[in-house]
Amino acid sequence: MTDAADLRRRTTDLLAAHPPERTGRLDFLRARFDAGLAWVHFPEGLGGLDAPRSLQAVVDAELAAAGAPDNDPGRIGIGLGMAAPTILRYGTEEQKKRFLRPLWTGEEVWCQLFSEPGAGSDLAALATRAVRDEDGDGDWIVDGQKVWTSSAHLARWAILIARTDPAVPKHRGLTYFLCDMTAPGVEVRPLRQITGEAEFNEVFLGGVRIPDAHRLGDVGDGWQVARTTLMNERVAIGGVRAPREGGGTPAEGRGRMIGVAAAAWRDHPELRTHDLHQRLLTLWVEAEVARLTGERLRQQLSQGQPGPEGSGMKLAFARLAQQISGWDVEFRGEDGLTYDDWTLRRPEGVDFTGREAGYRYLRAKGNSIEGGTSEVLLNIVAERVLGLPPEPRTDKDVAWKDLPR
Ligand SMILES: Cc1cc2nc3c(=O)[nH]c(=O)nc-3n(C[C@H](O)[C@H](O)[C@H](O)COP(=O)(O)OP(=O)(O)OC[C@H]3O[C@@H](n4cnc5c(N)ncnc54)[C@H](O)[C@@H]3O)c2cc1C
Repeated sequence: MTDAADLRRRTTDLLAAHPPERTGRLDFLRARFDAGLAWVHFPEGLGGLDAPRSLQAVVDAELAAAGAPDNDPGRIGIGLGMAAPTILRYGTEEQKKRFLRPLWTGEEVWCQLFSEPGAGSDLAALATRAVRDEDGDGDWIVDGQKVWTSSAHLARWAILIARTDPAVPKHRGLTYFLCDMTAPGVEVRPLRQITGEAEFNEVFLGGVRIPDAHRLGDVGDGWQVARTTLMNERVAIGGVRAPREGGGTPAEGRGRMIGVAAAAWRDHPELRTHDLHQRLLTLWVEAEVARLTGERLRQQLSQGQPGPEGSGMKLAFARLAQQISGWDVEFRGEDGLTYDDWTLRRPEGVDFTGREAGYRYLRAKGNSIEGGTSEVLLNIVAERVLGLPPEPRTDKDVAWKDLPR
C-alpha cells in the first residue's frame, strides 16, 4: 500500500530524473503522469498508484516547493473534473490509455456537450440525434445543437450525450460519446455572457461522424454514464474549486474569494462600517465551514464515486460566491463599479481572485446555474439526501417521441 513516505520518495526520484529547471513543461508533466504522481488515486499505468486520494496533497506540496510546473487546472477543469472520472469508470482499456494522459497533461482540452436550447435542467429531454450508419462502417452520425458549452473554442474533445432511441422513455434512449471537436460538421460559435466575455459557446453538430470505438458505455446507457459526469461536476465546482481557490491558511484565506474580500477590508480602513464588518465575519465563518465540509467530502471520496452530497457542496459554493462578491462590490463603493475591458474576449478559464470586483460579481451569477441550478440541486438534496418525497414526474414512462416539446 502506498503511503505518504513512499509518495515523497517517488516524488524525489521524479524530481531527480527530471529537474524542473532543465526539463520542458510538457516533458515534466508526461513524466509525472508516467510516474503515477498525476492523480495518485487513479490506477497504476493511468497516472496513479491506487493510493488514497487524500495523499495527493503530499505530492502537490513537494512539487510546488520544488518549483515544478503544473497542468493549469483552470484551463482543463472539464477534462479533469468530469471527463476523466467518467472515462475511468466506463471506458474500455483502449479508451483509458488513449485519452487520460493528454487530458491530464493539458495537451488535449475537453468540453461538455450536454445542455441544449430545450434541455438544461431537464437534460434527459435532449434532442440531439445519433444514428448508426448500419450500411457503412458502423459509425454514428450526429445531428443537433448544444448550448452554453464552456471552452468549446479551445477543446480537442467533448463528452457528448445524444438520443439513439426516440421510441423509449427519455432516460433510456440516450448514449454517451467522446466527440472529436475537429471532425467535419462541428461548428463552434461564441456566446457573449454578462461579463462581456465569451467563455461559452453554442455548438452545431451537422452530420458529425463518431466511430463506435468512441462510444462510452453501452448503447442506451447514456443517462447512467452521464450521472457519473454530473455528480463529479458538482464536486468539481463546489468541492474542489473552492479549496483550490482556497489555498492559504484559514486565518489568512489567501487566494480565496473570502481572502480577497478580507484583504480589501484590511487595505481600506476608510471604507469600513459596522454593518459591513458584521457581514464579512459571517461570510468568513460560512466560507470556513464550506471549506472544511469540502475537505471532508474529498476524504469520503478517497475511493469510489461521489454521491448526491456533492450537490450540497455546490449549492453552498454558489451562494457564498455570490454573497462574497456582492459584499466586495458594496464595500469598494464607486471603485467596485469599475470594469477593465468590455470587448468580447475568449478567456481560457474563470478567475475568481485575480480579476477586479466587478468581474467577480458578474461571473458569480453563473455559479447558481452552471452544473445544475440551485433549485434543481435543492430538489436532489431533498430527495436523495434527506429522503423527502420526490417531485411528481409524469413523463417517466412515456416514449420521448410522444412528449410535448
Ligand atoms: C457559466 C455557465 C457555464 C456552463 N457550461 C456548460 C457546459 O460546458 N456544458 C453544458 O452542457 N452546459 C453548460 N451550462 C449550462 C447549464 O448546465 C444549464 O444552464 C443549466 O443546467 C440550466 O439549464 P437551462 O439554462 O436550460 O435552464 P432551465 O432548465 O430552463 O431552468 C430555468 C429556471 O427554471 C428552474 N427550474 C427548472 N426545473 C426546475 C425544477 N424541476 N424545480 C425547480 N426549478 C426548476 C431553474 O432552476 C431555472 O431557474 C453552463 C451554464 C453556465 C451559466
